[in-house]
Amino acid sequence: MKALMKLRPERGAVLRDDIPIPKIGDRDVLIRVEKVAICGTDLHIYNWNAWAQSRIKTPLIFGHEMSGEVSEVGKSVKRIKVGDMVSAETHIPCGVCHQCLTGNAHICSNMKIVGVDINGTFAEYVSLLEVVVWKNKEGISPEIAAL
Ligand SMILES: [Zn+2]
Ligand SMILES: [Zn+2]
Repeated sequence: MKALMKLRPERGAVLRDDIPIPKIGDRDVLIRVEKVAICGTDLHIYNWNAWAQSRIKTPLIFGHEMSGEVSEVGKSVKRIKVGDMVSAETHIPCGVCHQCLTGNAHICSNMKIVGVDINGTFAEYVSLLEVVVWKNKEGISPEIAAL
C-alpha cells in the first residue's frame, strides 16, 4: 500500500508504495482510509522540531485524523462491522493499567498516540483497536468525518 512516512530522523516525509497492509489482531479493525486531515502535530513531525526529535522513532507512518470504511474486523470485535464508515479517537489506552481498569482509560499511564507512537493514518489502510473506532452517522461527508 501507499504510505507517507518518516523514514529517517530529519525534516520532510517520503511517500512509499511498497508497505504491507497491516495485519490485524483479534481486537483490531482494519480501515481503508478515505480522507485524512493534517493536524499541527503532523507539521511538527514533518518539520522535525525539537518535540518531534525527542518523541518520534523512525520509521513511522504519521497522521492521525481520518475517515474510512472498515474492510476487516478481528474475531473479538463486536460493535464495528465490515462496511461501516468510521473515524477514530487517536489516544490508544493500554487496557491493563490501574487507570484503564478503573474506568479512566482517558488518563492511561501507558497511552500511545496514533501516528506518533504507533503507525498512523497517512496510508491506504490503518489497523486500530475497536475501542477507539467511532462509527459515523450516515450523511456525514468523509472530509468532515476526518476532522
Ligand atoms: Zn490532531
Ligand atoms: Zn492503561
